[in-house]
Amino acid sequence: MITQPTLAARTGRGVQDWRDAAACRGTDPELFYPVSEMGPGRRQVEQAKQVCGRCLVREQCLEYALNRGEPYGVWGGTTAGERRARTRRAARAHHAVRRAGAAETSGGGDAPALAECPRAVTIADKRRLARRAIDRHGQPRTAVAAAFGVCLRTVDRWIAAERAQAESR
Ligand code: SF4
Repeated sequence: MITQPTLAARTGRGVQDWRDAAACRGTDPELFYPVSEMGPGRRQVEQAKQVCGRCLVREQCLEYALNRGEPYGVWGGTTAGERRARTRRAARAHHAVRRAGAAETSGGGDAPALAECPRAVTIADKRRLARRAIDRHGQPRTAVAAAFGVCLRTVDRWIAAERAQAESR
């Protein structure tokens, strides 16, 4: 079972903020570092994910691991391979969003500089670009959420609002 000091060692910081609510506190740390994600390690991955599945700070944990590029272990209910795939999808979505923004900008008018990093544009721009990335470029919602640094519910809200607005025109 992972102890508080072990968790602190995993994150390299003292136990505080979100770590206090980690469901893996008191769980064997070895559980979160399977030798492989497939084959013999698969069952271990599933067990670790079960713990993450009931964790209240799963989002924070995943964000922490993504921000640090954690190359090993299960964090936030994801394996290292899944995080790498997520990062690749986010990069593709980012490029799709930039392409959509560039196309819009080249259309002239008073379109803002949408080819800039999506994090820098307004909410209205983000909503429009998110819809383009999903509807025109076929990007997954998860990748768009990662590209904009928002949760899936936010992306769903944006898309619903954009589609409703388009239908009302
Ligand atoms: S999401 Fe999983 S690894 Fe992260 S703190 Fe919660 S239980 Fe621990």
